[in-house]
This record gives sequence, C-alpha cells and structure tokens, in this order.
Amino acid sequence: MTLTMSEARLTLQKVYGYDDFREGQTRIIGHLLERKDTVGIMPTGGGKSICYQVPALLQHGLTLVISPLISLMKDQVDALHSLGVRAGYINSTQDASEAGRILYEAERGQLKLLYVAPERLESEWFRERAKQLRISFIAVDEAHCVSHWGHDFRTSYRAIAPFVRELAAHNYGERPLLAAFTATATPEVTEDMIRLLELQEPELIVTGFKRDNLAFTVLRGENRKDFALNYVRQRTNMVGIIYASTRKDVEDLHNMLVKAGIPAGRYHAGLSDDERAQMQEAFLYDDIRVIVATNAFGMGIDKSNVRYVLHYNMPKHMEAYVQEAGRAGRDGEASECVLLFHPQDILTQKFFIEQSEALPERKAHEYKKLQSMIDFCYTPECLVTYMQRYFGEIDQQPCGMCGNCKDEREQVDITLDAQKIFSCIYRMRERWGVSMVASVLKGSRNKKVVQNGFDLLPTHGMMRHLTEKAISDIIYVLIADGYLGLSEGQYPVVRLLPTAADVLKGQQQVFQKVANELKPKVEAAVDETLFEQLRLLRRDIANKANVPPYIVFNDSTLREMTEKRPTTVDAFLKVKGVGEAKVQKFGQPFLDLFRHLEQQEASQDEPSGWYEDEGY
Ligand code: ADP
Ligand code: ZN
Repeated sequence: MTLTMSEARLTLQKVYGYDDFREGQTRIIGHLLERKDTVGIMPTGGGKSICYQVPALLQHGLTLVISPLISLMKDQVDALHSLGVRAGYINSTQDASEAGRILYEAERGQLKLLYVAPERLESEWFRERAKQLRISFIAVDEAHCVSHWGHDFRTSYRAIAPFVRELAAHNYGERPLLAAFTATATPEVTEDMIRLLELQEPELIVTGFKRDNLAFTVLRGENRKDFALNYVRQRTNMVGIIYASTRKDVEDLHNMLVKAGIPAGRYHAGLSDDERAQMQEAFLYDDIRVIVATNAFGMGIDKSNVRYVLHYNMPKHMEAYVQEAGRAGRDGEASECVLLFHPQDILTQKFFIEQSEALPERKAHEYKKLQSMIDFCYTPECLVTYMQRYFGEIDQQPCGMCGNCKDEREQVDITLDAQKIFSCIYRMRERWGVSMVASVLKGSRNKKVVQNGFDLLPTHGMMRHLTEKAISDIIYVLIADGYLGLSEGQYPVVRLLPTAADVLKGQQQVFQKVANELKPKVEAAVDETLFEQLRLLRRDIANKANVPPYIVFNDSTLREMTEKRPTTVDAFLKVKGVGEAKVQKFGQPFLDLFRHLEQQEASQDEPSGWYEDEGY
C-alpha cells in the first residue's frame, strides 16, 4: 500500500492544526512516503521535525530518531505528547529502569517514535535490543555531525551506518528507510553525509536558507556596548539572545543590562551546572526575556518566540552564525538578526585557531572559513544572497529586507577626523596600537607619550574635544572600512592602507554610517493587552503540565487567537497550530476566556481584569 500526500496532509491538519505543508516539506515527505532515502537540508525553523514525524505517524512500525541534543529530545517528546502522539526517548539522563521501560513499550509497538542519542548505537546491549523493535524508518537529525568538515563532528555518528547494516542483516536484508536532516551543510559536508551514513541513491532536497521572517543586519564600527544597551532597551517586551565570544564579555554585558534595570540572564561554560540549568529554564519559561550567552548556549534550545538574536562579536564561521542567528523567529513571526562587527574580532578568532591543536591542514580550513565570515561582514551585497551562495544555492534574488538591501542609516562626513587620525599615525611611524594613537590625539601627556616625544607632534591634542574612547571608536570604524590595517599578535599595531593616502591628499571623502538607533522592525501585536492575557493563561497551563509555554501553543498561535477569538471547538481548530489533541488538552480555559469576553462585549461592559479575578 502506498501512502499518499493527501493522507499526510490530513494528518498535518488533525494532529498539528496546520493547513498545508511548506514547499520543502511536501517534497521531502513525498519521497519518504515512496520509501526513498532522503537528505533534507533546511534552515533552522524550517520545519524539519514534521518531515519525519508525519511519515512516522503514517507508516507501520517504529521510527527511530537519532539526535545528539538531549534537551531537544525531551522537548520534542513533550511536544509530541501534547499533540497526542506516543513517543519516548532514551538517553543518559535516565536510569536503567526508565530506559528499560521505554524500550519495553517500543517492543510492544506502543510507540510511534523513539529518540536516541547516537552514543547509544555504540552499546552492544542497545543494538541487540534494537533488533527486537520493528524499526521501519530512521531519521538522523543534525546529520552534518558525521562529517569531519562539519563544525560539530561526533565520532558516534560513524556508528550509524554499521548499525543500519546490522539491522538489515538481522531482517534478512530488509533495511529501514533512512533520512538525514541538517540546517547547515556546505556541498562537501553533504557529500560526506551521503557517503558516511551510506544513504542509498538519496533524494536531495535543499529548501533554502532564506527565512522570509528574518531581517539581517551587519554593523561595523559601532560602539558596541552603547548599541547593545540601546537596542535591548527598545525591546524589553521581546524575547532575545545576545551572543558574545568570551565569558568576560558575557559577564560585562550582563552586568550592564542588570544595572540598567533590565532583567537579563547569562549563560556560559564557566557557570555551575545548576546555574546554567536554572538560566535555561528561566529563559524557556519566559521568566527572563533576554539572555547574554556564549555559543555554549542554544544547542537544543527550541524556543520559538525569540524575536532577536544580537551578535556582540563576529562568530568563527558562517555555519555557526547561521545556526545561532537562526534561533530567531522559529515561529515564523518577523524577527531580527544583528551582527556587530569589530576588527578586534578577527584577531580573537585567529588567536583561537592558532591556539588549537589542530593539524595544519585543518587550521588552513578554519582560516578559509573565517575569511568567508569576515567577507560576510564587509559585503555590500544582500546578506541573505551571500549566505545562500555560501551554502551552495546560487542565483538567488536579493531579500529586500536586510541591512544591505535596505540601508536606512544616516551618512556622516568624517573626512576631517580621518585626516587627523591618518596624519597622526603617519607621524608616529605606524608602530603603535589604537589606544596610543587615541591618547596622542587627545593630547595626553602620560609617560609613554612624553618619553617618545609624541607631545611635540603637531597632531598632539588635535582631537582634544573628544574622549579617548570616542577617538578609538572612530579609528575602529576606519579599520573596519579598510582605510587602516591592524597587525596580528598580542599588541596589534595600526597601519595606513593605500586608500588612506587618497584621503590625506584630499582626493577622497570618508563617510561613517550612523546606526545607533535600530528601531524595532517587529510589529506590535494587534491587541497587546489580550495577547499578554493569553500569555499568562498559557504560562499557568504550561506550569501545571510541566512543559515550557511554547509547547502548549506558540506565539503566532496566540496572536492569531487575539484576532479570531474562538468561542467554539470548531472555530478553535481553525487557528493555525491548533490540532485535535491540543484543543482537548489545553483548549477549555481559552474558550472560557473568549466566551466571557464575548458576553462582556454583548453587555457593553468594559473589558476588565477577568483573568486575574477568576484565578486561572
Ligand atoms: P526545525 O526543526 O527545522 O528547526 P521545527 O520543526 O521546530 O523546525 O519547526 C519550526 C516551527 O515551524 C514550529 O513552530 C513548527 O510547528 C512550525 N511549522 C512547521 N511546519 C509547519 C507548517 N507546515 N505550517 C505551519 N507551521 C509549521
Ligand atoms: Zn538582502
């Protein structure tokens, strides 16, 4: 019996409450229903899970999902339970009896989906038990981890292919269907995935990195602290993540926000397990809206209502950037991704590469990737087109909404300041760092300045009307825009680049783009008060059910509720993201609220604080 797309669509509507598949999903699910091995490359938030879950629900037998992220596993299984789907997971957070119970359920055919970490496949015990399960389909999540060229290589992924072979041998040659999914794969990684997972003549579907709801911006030469503070202040009602490269930056930014009265969380590998778990929890449950973190944060965070991801530093490569920025707007609502580039970031990243114990070949590869990341920060073309090309999608149209497509910044002529700075660097013989140049321009008479006779230079004190920090900021703009170069090493030295000569000769003007105010692009909800009310209601339900709020309903579903205000089960089912199981489990309090509002309006009462009064 072959399964059809219309059956799949029916499942999507009944179980998930969505009208139709996205374009890439249709293609992937179509192939899987024909039992063809498939590789799905989809951006974060593109809707990967549905690609394997819907076939899993339609097929006989068990679907094994191999996923490296323990927290994500629990999340996915919670989400499936809330949809009324029988699913379980086995990982290191459980004791043996719990794992045994789940396996027992799977053996008896009581589960449709079983999530396991790849490390399981290395255990003889698990492999033997797995032969007793009727595994008809294996979905490999984060499949790029099998490749050395990928950014998070995991040896245990190499155990997948032998495991599948073993299963097939046990079943007289009948091999489960295999699908591999990832959000970020360059062509070389894709090739590795196919070869190392031993996919058989797979269909390859790349749904594209374009996320219509994300507006990307790269800013160079901003005063980052001021920018970050301003930015978050304008978005206190939104959920956001700020990524910084070092623990120290995380601590500093976190302090700054807290001092400014903004409840913020922090997350990095230097905190205790307890504190990290607590921070993650508070963020997932919307108790804090903004979190400052290193890249240790986010793997496995499936929070759907993140409205902005602000990168305080340039990450080490495009793969990392796309993954981190992609955590914004998973619910499909308009969201922002802003990267603050500073020339110092290049030195930091080079330092990380040099410090690592990787082989020269590997280091060369890392440098190449870093260069692509730097080019991204400098490119004048559409940022999305750049990303698409990097990941192998060519000939794409500009997105029309990124910072480069839509540059609304003000241009300020800084030619005069630039000339003073260049001239000073020249007179200091291009042997000093940014802060020393700034001290001289400020007119400082500190020991070093005097010892070197810089107080006698005609440029000494030429910019005394500015603070040293402001002068440094301008120097960094000039570095970022390619007028000045910064040498490598522990004490980087500023040098003039050929373009600076043209400026000194008065043949070229210098402009700085000023973007200190990046106004929120994200639209406010139709009815903020009602939306807030629904959020509170959702939080109570989530707390009782012991799951994060977005497992109950995500923000876009709540938003649609503020418009549709359903008072019957049928009307409720028409809201996007509401399936049959969810109406049964979580629907009643919402229906009660909307019915109450309707009555109130009918009797012309002012809508009051009903929600708090009734104590939901
Ligand atoms: P990924 O795993 O690719 O990052 P998810 O599977 O978590 O993405 O899906 C991202 C979001 O998109 C989820 O909130 C999901 O419910 C929603 N979604 C997925 N498919 C559809 C669809 N066909 N219609 C509407 N929303 C969808
Ligand atoms: Zn663009």
